[in-house]
Amino acid sequence: MIFEFDNTYSRLPDAFFTRQGPEPVSQPEVLAWNAGLAQDLGLGAIDMAQAAQIFSGNQTPDGAAPLAQAYAGHQFGHFNPQLGDGRAILMGEIVDATGQRHDITLKGSGRTPYSRGGDGRAWLGPVLREFIVSEAMYHLGIPTTRALAAVATGDAVYRETAQPGAILTRVASSHLRVGTFEYFAARRDHENLKTLFDYAVSRHYPLASDPASFLDAVIERQIKLVTQWMGIGFIHGVMNTDNCHIAGITIDYGPCAFMDQYNPRQVYSSIDQYGRYAYEAQRNIIMWNMAQLATSLVPLMPDQDEAIAAFTAKIHAMPDDFNTQWLRVFAAKLGIANPTEQDRALIAQFLNLMEASQADFTNTFYDLGAGDAAAHFKDQSAFQSWQDTWRARIVDDTTARALMAQSNPWIIPRNHQIEAMINTALNGDMTQLERLAIALTNPYTKQNAFADLASPPTPEQEIKATFCGT
Ligand code: AMP
Ligand code: MG
Repeated sequence: MIFEFDNTYSRLPDAFFTRQGPEPVSQPEVLAWNAGLAQDLGLGAIDMAQAAQIFSGNQTPDGAAPLAQAYAGHQFGHFNPQLGDGRAILMGEIVDATGQRHDITLKGSGRTPYSRGGDGRAWLGPVLREFIVSEAMYHLGIPTTRALAAVATGDAVYRETAQPGAILTRVASSHLRVGTFEYFAARRDHENLKTLFDYAVSRHYPLASDPASFLDAVIERQIKLVTQWMGIGFIHGVMNTDNCHIAGITIDYGPCAFMDQYNPRQVYSSIDQYGRYAYEAQRNIIMWNMAQLATSLVPLMPDQDEAIAAFTAKIHAMPDDFNTQWLRVFAAKLGIANPTEQDRALIAQFLNLMEASQADFTNTFYDLGAGDAAAHFKDQSAFQSWQDTWRARIVDDTTARALMAQSNPWIIPRNHQIEAMINTALNGDMTQLERLAIALTNPYTKQNAFADLASPPTPEQEIKATFCGT
């Protein structure tokens, strides 16, 4: 295996991180391996015994510069000035053949100075969940971190009960979070705040010339991301500012889930008691998170009062921009490429009918595109009348079907299938994981061999809450 590291983050000032390697584990064994991603990263020939050593953290490849990153964050609205990588180690960065830079990070790799009360470890359940869901997200075409490997450690992790430990190798375009900006802003360390800003610009927004245009660009990407999440029924579950990536990619898969029945108030996370991060609330939370980023950027501006006024206006513009982008996403799901404001009512009526019928979000949209969604609705005459209006709105059937086919996935990683996969993996059987991974590689294509994985849960299979599982 070849790693050609080029570690820019480790060349930043000491205040950005603590140099720290992963803690060794007893008996590493590769549970899941992403061969396609390994190839894209140019890792060369890999033998699984060596991969187990490297991706458990037992062996540090030449050129790595392991470190734990410092960051802060608002967790459920409360500011914590000191979070940081409490159970992850950035091993280094690789530039692939296309010139794209990737962080290679081990998650669940032991304690760091930022662990606070935690053990620095992860158990197999959340590691395999992130492996499957982040790769599914990638294949759905939504910006995300990726998963290269899941390695069992051979050591127990103590949660409510003892569980087998595991480590995820996460690959990401960086690990810069809104919380990284908050970290330096809260310390009034404006010199390092400026260094971070310059670094973020060079890594993600080379066209942003100042904090104002940078903020615009981050807001645009976050709106795009969250509307894309909503378009596939995804609920992140912990959109704290430390889990909000500066490049607008999905990061930190914890108690996340795709909804089955359409319910705008859907929450899965067992720790989200008040529905702060419910499906529909995600539109508001992203504005709240961007307001925190804006606040952190103010000190970089020459005139603070002017900056506050200008940045406040940017945040206040978000609802309209969000609604415009949301309209594009949901209109596309109905085969409408250039939506007008009138289409909003058509979409709302469809969603209302779905909600009243407890219709499956994914399958109803897919079946509408495939030609027959009637079976999902309780009130047939209401649906038929909606469908007449919709058909009259569609200008060209072929174009509409093509747009729907690329906007409405046939399969998403369903919560009950992930739980079932974790349970079989706990018994040492990785075949369900492999099957899920393969099915989710082509999410927009109907694959009869995987029909069981695309079906909604029966009432007995339904998972009501997803535990944070840290
Ligand atoms: P999360 O909500 O999973 O993104 O984690 C929030 C913060 O808690 C981050 O700073 C994590 O590094 C830290 N953390 C989560 N789980 C653990 C753990 N088992 N040990 C140490 N730190 C943890
Ligand atoms: Mg996090």
